[in-house]
Amino acid sequence: MPAFWTEADWDAHERVEVVHDRASGLTAIIALHSTHLGPGAGGTRFWHYADPAGAMRDALRLSRGMSFKNAMAGLPMGGGKAVVMLDKDGTKTDAMLEAFGDAVEALNGRYVTAEDVGATVADMVKIAGRTRHVCGLPVSEGDAGGDPGPFTAMGIYHGIKAAVAHKLGKDSMAGVRVAVQGCGSVGGGVARLLAKDGASLIVSDINTKRAQALAQEIGGEAVDGDVVMGTECDVFSPNALGAILDDDGIARLDCAIVAGGANNQLARPEHGAMLHERGILYAPDYVINAGGIINVSLEYLCRQKGEPCDINEVRKRIAQIPARLQSIWNTSEAESRPSNEVADAMAMELIGRG
Ligand code: NAD
Repeated sequence: MPAFWTEADWDAHERVEVVHDRASGLTAIIALHSTHLGPGAGGTRFWHYADPAGAMRDALRLSRGMSFKNAMAGLPMGGGKAVVMLDKDGTKTDAMLEAFGDAVEALNGRYVTAEDVGATVADMVKIAGRTRHVCGLPVSEGDAGGDPGPFTAMGIYHGIKAAVAHKLGKDSMAGVRVAVQGCGSVGGGVARLLAKDGASLIVSDINTKRAQALAQEIGGEAVDGDVVMGTECDVFSPNALGAILDDDGIARLDCAIVAGGANNQLARPEHGAMLHERGILYAPDYVINAGGIINVSLEYLCRQKGEPCDINEVRKRIAQIPARLQSIWNTSEAESRPSNEVADAMAMELIGRG
């Protein structure tokens, strides 16, 4: 594995741990980017990586993104993220989850974990058997917490409506064409909410059956995974994996707005400038997709105090996402700077690295 401090994605991370547990076969990386605002909070991704360097890159980029996301969401949390390196069959055992829980516990509250791609609420319950520093756990009706996906989708839905109002001057989603990449927890939720408002949905997933089922449910159209980025639409909403906005991807876009939940959508920061030059309004990913971490962070903070957490507080905070985006877009236009650069500068200021 290359030394991580020579990685392009190394950004003075406070701590990076490589965890290996012989007994269970767990190999994981826990990256803490910044604890300036509070404990580093961010989910755990369970994924099969082609090589360890890819896992390290993911951990470094995702944890930095969490510092920015939590700061911009106004949460008293820093940025952290973990990746668990699965074998090519995606084997995930209880023993691995327990060993991972022990690794989180050893950080003594400096890292708080939750779900990310490949993780379930049941996994978090298993991890919670070994550490208190976990959220996204089952909660009672009316309390904050649990699966972050629907809350992330809710924030993206609000953000897309704000982008459509800002860029297209429309205060209704009726007839607005939205192409959704990824029909999982987040993408599926976004598509369902938009369909209820009368938007015209084009959906895609590498799991074609999932895309077709969603299209049938919401009265949309399912297209091939590869085709969706070049589909003529008002909004392209990436909700699968990151780094899809590269030279080739951006050249293929035929939309006015890019707004979706996938983390790290820009392959490199300069791809934000390419979107800006093309006149495409970009909603910085870590601002628009903060709904899930708002939900589980409030769950965590309330649980530490032994108090129940009102779901309405979560909804109130998620409803503030459009105003944050609006302020970024206003500055971007006033100063002729790409929206990702504006957001990064705001976030760096908030985490004391301005
Ligand atoms: P998920 O696993 O539920 O769904 C992801 C979906 O994307 C799957 O259906 C998968 O088949 C599909 N997919 C993968 N590669 C694809 C491709 N190339 N083209 C089309 N479809 C593809 O995951 P999720 O929770 O919905 O998360 C989706 C994205 O949102 C991830 O980037 C995740 O990091 C990000 N995100 C999730 C949350 C959350 O609360 N779940 C919060 C913030 C950000």
